[in-house]
This record gives sequence, structure tokens and C-alpha cells, in this order.
Amino acid sequence: MARESFAIGNVRVRAGSAKEIELPITRLVTGADVFLPVRVIHGREDGPVVWVNAATHGDEVNGTEVIRRVLAQLPPKTFRGTLVAVPILNVLGFMTGDRYLPDRRDLNRSFPGSARGSLASRLAHLFMEEVVSKCEVGIDLHTGADRRANWPHIRADLDDPRTRELAEAFGMPLMLQSKLRDGSLRQAARDRGATVLLFEGGENWRFDEYAIAAGVVGVRRVLASLGMIEPLDDEEHPSTIECRQSGWVRAKGTGILHLDVTLGQPVEAGQRLGGLSDSFGRRVRLVHADRTGTVIGLTTAPLVNSGDAIVHIAN
Ligand SMILES: [Zn+2]
Repeated sequence: MARESFAIGNVRVRAGSAKEIELPITRLVTGADVFLPVRVIHGREDGPVVWVNAATHGDEVNGTEVIRRVLAQLPPKTFRGTLVAVPILNVLGFMTGDRYLPDRRDLNRSFPGSARGSLASRLAHLFMEEVVSKCEVGIDLHTGADRRANWPHIRADLDDPRTRELAEAFGMPLMLQSKLRDGSLRQAARDRGATVLLFEGGENWRFDEYAIAAGVVGVRRVLASLGMIEPLDDEEHPSTIECRQSGWVRAKGTGILHLDVTLGQPVEAGQRLGGLSDSFGRRVRLVHADRTGTVIGLTTAPLVNSGDAIVHIAN
């Protein structure tokens, strides 16, 4: 018996086909309608229904490129199950390179949203109704925030066995236990019964080839582990370390920052991470690790004020 078609918006996607759908969000003051662009690949054969989205924060462009490359490599004939790809979730923030929506709300604190709430809340609601509620697994792709670079890693609730299994399948060198946050896509999707992974890698506003390549292979490994595509050729599965906690080392002074460590580097408590100098190069302060672990995030700002977060260490 042929697989049933997939209903989304006001269209149905036939089994064995792919379709681009525009879900209406709002209208700009200039009169143009704004849509959420979605691509559905509805395989001929049965399998899981999975979504992958990027740019929940509108300045995080790496994930959009990850999705473009994943879609380009999907085998249309032999694909099993259904993939709902949303390369730009925060469409309005994306247009201006802004993390938030024009109403200054953080979309990732606006879930599950409502049809009559703020603009962010309505977008969250649309995404929940049209995408999340139809999926059993989701991957939310992020990058570091403003002037922060992240080492590619997975954040997920590793205490949930199913989530843990998929986090391991993603195959990053590090996974970080991360509790659910109120208003986040991850929390709302979990409440609807979906298993969600959050990928972090690179920084906002620019393509980071290392993080993009890691994201592409990770998403493909998850699709393979779910039986949607054939296992990858490179299936030497990398080992992954699990971290339960993380924290930022903050500047104890103000100055020009020179870091001695790089992303992914193991560090020991007390180790020198870098130093702060004045404008003539005189050393003002040294920066030391407050814990033993792995560097998963770094500021990319050369000038730091006392209290600024400089190095993110997971332990
Ligand atoms: Zn983000």
C-alpha cells in the first residue's frame, strides 16, 4: 500500500516527492507578506518524521548552510521517512542579522507560543502546529551569540535514554548535559513528545567551515541512525566525551585580550588561558582556568571589560 501523503499548511506532499511550502507569518509595514519557508522530503517508504531547523536566533547563519548541504545530499528515490527542513526559523531577525524579532523578543523563550500572542509567540505557535507536532525527532541548529565562538557540540538532556542515543549518533567530540529551559523550542517540543537535539557550533553572522562541516555530518549520522538514509562511508564513529556542567571564566580586569587557548583544547584548573594588557602592551591581568575541562566557547572580542565572559569551559 502506498504511503499516505504529508499534510502541511494547505498542501499535501505525495509519498516519494519533495515540496517547498510557504507558511504565512505576517505582513511587513511596506505591504509584503512574510512566509516561513519549509521544504518537505516525503519518502516513498515508511520511516520516522524528523525536522531540522536553523536560525531560531536570526543572526545564526551557520545552520542555514548546514541544512542546504544536507538537502543537497539526500537521495530522493531511496529516502525513508519524512524530513521537514526549516533553514530560517526566525525569518524577520534573519533579514536584519538580528538575534531577536522586531518586537525584541527571543524566539527561543517564546515557545510553545500562541495564535494571539506577540509576533514571536505567533511564530513559535505556527512552528509548533505545522512542524513540531508532526515530528518525533527534531534537530535545532545554533551558533555562539554575539562575538562568541563555540566548538561544535551537542546540548541535550542526556539523562533521557532516547535523547542520549541520538546525541551519541550525532557523533560530536563533546556532548553537554543541558536542562530544558522554559520557553525554549526544546522544552515545548519535548512536552509534545519529540526527542530534540541542540547543535552548537561556530559564531553568529559568519560561516565557520569547521562548524558547518561538523553539523552536516552530524545531521546525516542521525538520519542514518534512524534508518532514513544509508550509513555514512566514514562510519568510524568518533568517541564523544560527556560533560555535566560548564561555566564561563570572566575577566577580572579591563584590557586588550590575548588568549593562549583554542576551541576544543583540554585545560586544567589554574592553567593560564591568556592575559589582559593596556594599550601600550603592559600586562594588566592574567586569565586562569577556574576548572579542569574542555574549552567549548571563546569570546572573539579583542577588548574586554571587567566581568566579561571570556572562556567557556565544560567539565
Ligand atoms: Zn542560538
